[in-house]
Amino acid sequence: MEENEEELKQAVLDIASYCIKCRFCLLGCPLYEITQHSDGENIPTGVMEGEVSYGASGILLALYHVVKWEIRDKETLTDLRDILFSCTTCGNCELACDRFATGVKILDAFHKGRELLVEGGIGPMPNQKRPLESLFRYGNPYGMSPSERRDWMKNLGAPIFSHRGEFDFLFYIGCTAFNDPRVGDTARAVIKILNKAQIDFGILEDEICCGCPALRLGDRLLFEDICQKNLSQFNSLEPKQIITLSPHCYDTFVNEYPQEAMPGIKVQHYSQLLAELIEQGRLAFKSGIEEKVVYQDPCYLGRHNDIYDEPRKVLNSMPGIKLEEFKRTKQDSLCCGGGGGRMWSDFNAEESRIANIRAKEGIEAGANVLVTACPFCLINLDDAVKSVNIEDLLKVKELAELVAQRI
Ligand code: SF4
Ligand code: SF4
Repeated sequence: MEENEEELKQAVLDIASYCIKCRFCLLGCPLYEITQHSDGENIPTGVMEGEVSYGASGILLALYHVVKWEIRDKETLTDLRDILFSCTTCGNCELACDRFATGVKILDAFHKGRELLVEGGIGPMPNQKRPLESLFRYGNPYGMSPSERRDWMKNLGAPIFSHRGEFDFLFYIGCTAFNDPRVGDTARAVIKILNKAQIDFGILEDEICCGCPALRLGDRLLFEDICQKNLSQFNSLEPKQIITLSPHCYDTFVNEYPQEAMPGIKVQHYSQLLAELIEQGRLAFKSGIEEKVVYQDPCYLGRHNDIYDEPRKVLNSMPGIKLEEFKRTKQDSLCCGGGGGRMWSDFNAEESRIANIRAKEGIEAGANVLVTACPFCLINLDDAVKSVNIEDLLKVKELAELVAQRI
């Protein structure tokens, strides 16, 4: 529910008041980590003279300072914007604060801070304005017209879900598949798997974004509009279950949509459904080449939703696959750098630094394939192995791609 400016400010102050400034939240914060791996170029600092203003605790303190002292100076607000919108929303800081300190809801404060900056005309980052405009005009952040998207959907060869109760399952594909060919291939791979398992499913002819980018970029009003449109479409079709390609869509549907407004509709990420199908004996694998794989836990599947076992179960069920683990794995996994609206951001140099660190950790884990189950991880980590010149040693694949090759 949308809050007014005073409510947002009070909420930020309330949340930040639990912070004891111990800085345990810097443990595992990728923003803080890349400042240790860089020469400082492109790293925004400031807002709080003499304080570490980068990394979780620094951003929280800077936000508190601006709200508490009602700072309106544009330069300071722009500095705050640069650090606040750099957060990947990976959630590692909240985990550390929960484990070692006072359990501050850091991301709630950050999202409210982003909303305040957007309402004040300071946020989001310059490059993030276009995706917001596109979401408003077309219902997706990539500037595709609804007719382009409709044509793309029809070419997938999956049945179109057009009337109430026509199918049990709705496969919700999400926007990135239309914009990136490899993610598009992942959507095709999931369709192949669903067909093979004889799942009664359809896709939407007029699919729009789940609204996650609007939330991350601080435009709650736009998010609520998109949410209502999707709810009306879902309720008019009444699928028993929605399967998402992206962890970001999954998280948005289960944690941000009012659950009472979609009664009887279960939502799953595709990796959860695959694990169930394997357990029921509905997906059989043929033998494949031997591969040593390491699994990247996407933040919005793992840390935000505790889905760690199902993708691993799928991997462990495939003959020839040997699953290794990152040193930092599951809850302690390092983000790919693409969450929190950063896929549309001005932080490309930093983004590659986070993903580059992770790609090198894949080699350290002894893997020759890095598997993930998220469009943003796929794009960022695939770029990373190229940028650190390890693409001959470490391939990046989507879980669905691997499964589709072996059924
Ligand atoms: S760990 Fe929690 S209490 Fe400590 S500085 Fe970070 S937010 Fe504050
Ligand atoms: S959510 Fe992740 S990137 Fe953002 S401040 Fe917390 S640990 Fe750092």
